[in-house]
Amino acid sequence: MKINFKNFKKKMKEMKENKKNKKDKEKRDGVICIREINENIRRVETGQPLTKPLAELNYYCEFKKKFNEMDKLYHPIIVCSQCKCEVEKKGYCSEECRIKAREYYSQPKVKAKLKEYYQRPEVKAKHREYYERPEIKAKKREYNKKPEVKARIKVYNQRPEIKARIRARNRIYSQLPKRKAQQKEYSQRPEVKARIKTYNKEYYQRPEIRAKYKAYYQPKRAKYKYKTKNDKTKNDKND
Ligand SMILES: [Zn+2]
Repeated sequence: MKINFKNFKKKMKEMKENKKNKKDKEKRDGVICIREINENIRRVETGQPLTKPLAELNYYCEFKKKFNEMDKLYHPIIVCSQCKCEVEKKGYCSEECRIKAREYYSQPKVKAKLKEYYQRPEVKAKHREYYERPEIKAKKREYNKKPEVKARIKVYNQRPEIKARIRARNRIYSQLPKRKAQQKEYSQRPEVKARIKTYNKEYYQRPEIRAKYKAYYQPKRAKYKYKTKNDKTKNDKND
């Protein structure tokens, strides 16, 4: 076996250099304390002069990380979800990218993967936490108030499968102890009681409801009449 000494030497040199760089970095990270980093981050936020030049501070990984995070927060760069080019609004830069993305996400393999991801407890918890934030809730409420969105939701809710889903959800919701107690309290309010009473009175007076009840109860009554005590004993004797 032939050993290429030139390459070997080069590699050794590289390794040594890497080690030295790493040590230097560790040294750099060590000479500044986290308190000074945090203080400088605070100063960047408030626009005060820094304790050290920015170029020097940027040597410290901890500072750089925090600074980048903050920069992202204040100056977010929005990119196309498909080709990663910079765009003004969240989404895709072109119709082409949109179609490409749709093709990608409609693959059964990708769909299954996404489904698995969104069903993870930690992901679910994260989403729940996000959508329960007051500012997000308010934003959503504002969005849903728009006429075009309202119309779209109405059409969506009319779909049979969606109707069934809403009904199932309401059934589960109404069974919750909290909801049950709420409903009990509500129905026992005097004004609500009175309203229910007048509604029921009006309801049972409706001709179609009366006809329905008549159709339901009359055969039952006839059956009941048939099975009076006398009839029963007579039948028993016949047996
Ligand atoms: Zn694009």
